[in-house]
Amino acid sequence: MTRYIMAFDQGTTSSRCILFSEAGEIVSQASRELPQIFPKPSWVEQDPRVIFSTQIAVFYEALLKIGAKPSDVTAVGITNQRETVIVWDRKTGEPIYNAIVWQCRRTAGETDRLKEAGYEKIIREKTGLLLDPYFSASKAKWILDNVEGARERARRGELCFGTVDTWLLYSLSGGRIFATDYSNASRTMLFNINTLDWDDELLSLFDIPRAMMPSVQPSASLFGVASKEILGKEILIGGVAGDQQSALFGQCCFDKGMTKNTYGTGGFLLMNTGDTPVFTDSGLLTTVAWGVEGKVTYALEGSVFVSGAVIQWLRDGLRVIDSAYDSEYMASKVTDSGGVMLVPAFSGLGAPYWDPYARGTIIGITRDTTKYHIIRAALDAMTYQTADVVSLMERVSGTRVPLLRVDGGASANELLLSLQADILGRTIERPSVIETTALGAAYLAGLTAGIYDSTADIAKRQKTAAIFESKRDGVYREETLARWHRAVRRSLQWEK
Ligand code: ADP
Repeated sequence: MTRYIMAFDQGTTSSRCILFSEAGEIVSQASRELPQIFPKPSWVEQDPRVIFSTQIAVFYEALLKIGAKPSDVTAVGITNQRETVIVWDRKTGEPIYNAIVWQCRRTAGETDRLKEAGYEKIIREKTGLLLDPYFSASKAKWILDNVEGARERARRGELCFGTVDTWLLYSLSGGRIFATDYSNASRTMLFNINTLDWDDELLSLFDIPRAMMPSVQPSASLFGVASKEILGKEILIGGVAGDQQSALFGQCCFDKGMTKNTYGTGGFLLMNTGDTPVFTDSGLLTTVAWGVEGKVTYALEGSVFVSGAVIQWLRDGLRVIDSAYDSEYMASKVTDSGGVMLVPAFSGLGAPYWDPYARGTIIGITRDTTKYHIIRAALDAMTYQTADVVSLMERVSGTRVPLLRVDGGASANELLLSLQADILGRTIERPSVIETTALGAAYLAGLTAGIYDSTADIAKRQKTAAIFESKRDGVYREETLARWHRAVRRSLQWEK
């Protein structure tokens, strides 16, 4: 009998379901776009009911595509866009406001105020995060401040706070499960990653009643069962993790020092730091990777705002390529960028520079420069930014990254990965399944369901599809990165 694991992958721009075999191979998948709501400039919302309904639609679609039935699914795992907040009525399950999405900047004034009042250090020590509207706490406060009567109702225990995983668990179980996992909780700015509990001081700082908070569980644990009315069968839900942490798990980065980079719209580098959190004021975040097999694992995280998005810009803005796929062929028409550097600081720079006033720069142009050099420089920039974060992470953690596992849409580009190996001087490994986010959730659920015995059992199944080795020496790396850093300096503090 075939036993499948269904991963619910609820991302910012789409809801997807991927059906995996026990061997971790993709058997079927389905995806629906998720509409974004922009009520004002820099405000981003989504309809929580559409988040749920699209997720259910793709569950059935993925099964129907291969003629499978809900009873063929042994376990469900959930991975999701992180930090996004939903508040709903505990009895009816009705949201009291739209989901406020992680990208939304409406609470920048609130987090600036807390920064000025000197809360940055205490927040870093308790949560591992930076005081920024990106995280959930100020968004939840905004809903309680702005929806009439909400705070009073929250105090009486009539409302529920949730990140997207909690909302899906609640909705899938007809209101019986009200929980989240350590990795998602660690992105709320309300969760103390040392004590592994909601933090009373932070709850009161944001005026959020404890009565509305979900229980917090290990990422691989029995969350409950989805109701028969919704999934057609009572299916065990055994794994939950935020998208980047799930990708780290899906890449089998189970040991301290193991690192993955995702080349999506942005770039996300995560390093497993073992059973102790590594705190830093360097601009890296300290976060819970997962709770699995009775212990909690931590990670360091570095975010680059523009990674694959620079390729989108070449396509839609400059119109020098027809598709992202073409970037590889076009960039390989030249042997290098001809000295051109492209700093894609379109919306400021993230790790390790953290300059909201930086803007994009193309420098080093001569009469010989062609569009091919610029396309090549864009791919170079994706690899240089990753190299910067790797080197910061090594410094902060005191751990050398011997090899980098990669995934995300742009990891299909083999020129990009060989350039990455060259500039890092390390091996780059791309797994056979690059849908590592969904795979991580499936592995977590499979552990709980007893399909896998242990993380060691999972690691045995991991397949590396491609390996890229460096063909350059240290002198090349030093000179190239020095030139890159000169270009970066010219982009900083531009839009003052
Ligand atoms: P996200 O999950 O953040 O939406 P994906 O992991 O789907 O992103 O990756 C999409 C990004 O990767 C886009 O920004 C796109 O420009 C880029 N991309 C996709 N294919 C390629 C390619 N072959 N070469 C370079 N970049 C690519």
